[in-house]
Amino acid sequence: MLCSLLFYVHIRQGSGSDRIVPISGESFKFGLAQNLRDSISCIAMTKLALAISGRNFKEAAEQIEKVIAAGAEIIELRLDYLEQLDKELAEKLTIYTRGCANGAAPLIATCRDKRQGGAIDHPESLRVEALVAAVDAGAEFIDCEYTNFNASANCRESITSALARNSQALLILSEHNFQGSFENLNQIYERLVQASATVIPKIVYTANHINDCFEAFDLLNKIEGRATIFCMGDHGLISRILAKKLGSFVTFAAVDEDTATAPGQLTLGELKRGYRYERLNADTKLFGVIGEPVAHSMSPKIHNACFADIDFDCLYLPLLVAGGKEQFDLFIDNVLNRPWLDFAGFSVTIPHKRNAIDFVREKGGYIDPLTERIGAANTVLIDKKGGLSAYNTDYTGAMEAIEQGLDIGRSDFKGMPVAVVGAGGVARAIVAGLADTAADVKIYNRTVEKARTLAEEFGCEYASLNDLTKMNAELVINCTSIGMSPEIDKSPVPSQCLGEGMAVFDTVYNPAETLLLEQAKQAGAKTINGVSMFINQAAEQFRLFTGQEPDRELMRKIVADTLKG
Ligand code: NAP
Repeated sequence: MLCSLLFYVHIRQGSGSDRIVPISGESFKFGLAQNLRDSISCIAMTKLALAISGRNFKEAAEQIEKVIAAGAEIIELRLDYLEQLDKELAEKLTIYTRGCANGAAPLIATCRDKRQGGAIDHPESLRVEALVAAVDAGAEFIDCEYTNFNASANCRESITSALARNSQALLILSEHNFQGSFENLNQIYERLVQASATVIPKIVYTANHINDCFEAFDLLNKIEGRATIFCMGDHGLISRILAKKLGSFVTFAAVDEDTATAPGQLTLGELKRGYRYERLNADTKLFGVIGEPVAHSMSPKIHNACFADIDFDCLYLPLLVAGGKEQFDLFIDNVLNRPWLDFAGFSVTIPHKRNAIDFVREKGGYIDPLTERIGAANTVLIDKKGGLSAYNTDYTGAMEAIEQGLDIGRSDFKGMPVAVVGAGGVARAIVAGLADTAADVKIYNRTVEKARTLAEEFGCEYASLNDLTKMNAELVINCTSIGMSPEIDKSPVPSQCLGEGMAVFDTVYNPAETLLLEQAKQAGAKTINGVSMFINQAAEQFRLFTGQEPDRELMRKIVADTLKG
């Protein structure tokens, strides 16, 4: 009777969408259906795997203890790193790992072929022997390259019979491409799934651009069973983090930089403290900073700390979007076409601030009037229907920093002689702000033509950097990158031009105390550093992202700690 019935179970998928899974009565009779078990394990959290890359028993044993203490949810024992590998050593280390983990973290034994990222070129027969020894010694998973499993009868038969002896062990079949994307990712996935009834596919490839990650996201979002899919390299970084949001079976991290086993692997600390890994789930809203480069950006640290502070289910990512407008547009289109990724907003930095405003304009989105005047956006929001809006918080950030630093109000700028040094993106936002207050602005720039264009747009004067010696300003603002780390012994303004009664604002915030500010202080001028502008513009972005005021002191502390190193 039971056999003729179908039960339907409601399942929340990794992507956040719901799915109804049919289960036959027969399945209920004999326990959970395989598809339900797969679905449950898929949603039952991505496992954080820490890899062991010791070259001998002692090194590996030390690492095993370290990763267990660090909270590994799965341990990957990379047997291919062992210099004196034989089946006894594989067996000994498997038993040692299982003993130390005491059931808390299952073990994946891997003996990677050098052609697919292995450390040492062990012969195939030895690699298979080592994997078989690990299964016989109780490893919960073994990871074998599909190519070898498929092509070598010895590999396939030895592993299949070992798995038959230990029915608790499962096979991960993997495909790696260290050069770039696979031609047909779906086809590879199907090939892996069909290779064996209970296989867990693992597909890893190098992203040469952040846009290469979306194919991996689509596959993870589409499939129903367990699979590990992510991208390697700097451009694939977000796929390692988002693996958990999208329900990948495993994502990998290293205990420290010295033990990383693949390009772009994050450390456990970066993943947990930097990217809110423990909080991350299928519904987490995403934000990030789009730029090139972005690795140095402090924005992920401060925004993630403030999300945690107000207990919002949000994550802020570094989004390395290399290239120009075409690549930028493609990235945002990729995001907009996948609402299940839950991206809700971006900070935008060099070189994409103009691309950002152009994109929002082309899509018919809202552009804040001052942002339109500035001609560049550093903040883009995506509403629930995919509608876009663009803002520039550099303007508010800078104006507030000056007002706070000099203890003045907006009306006090009227008629004030101001020297703006630089004519790039930040200068544009500040000149727009100053023009609004009717300050008397003169722009000095290395490329005089750029100073002229900006000056004409906002009704100011302009000159070359050489003319700074003749300047007559109450307020000097550095909007160039001169003096920024590592070139900290440079200043854009000759020290003899600085004096008492003057105020100097340097937008450079790394270091906080630039040579320009040091010399200005020595000359008796008031000084304002770039940290306050950085905090103000980030706080305004945070308010746009969440509708909440961030704790500015928390932001300030993080910036100060990061600058101290
Ligand atoms: P940008 O658009 O690339 O403009 C750079 C400016 O610096 C241009 O005027 C450029 O002159 C000048 N410059 C660069 N190297 C120079 C050199 N060796 N000699 C003379 N002039 C030089 O960059 P941006 O977005 O305006 O950013 C500029 C700086 O602002 C950044 O480096 C950063 O330190 C600071 N910033 C601060 C914040 C904050 O929140 N505190 C936020 C963003 C940026 P040319 O026109 O001749 O190339």
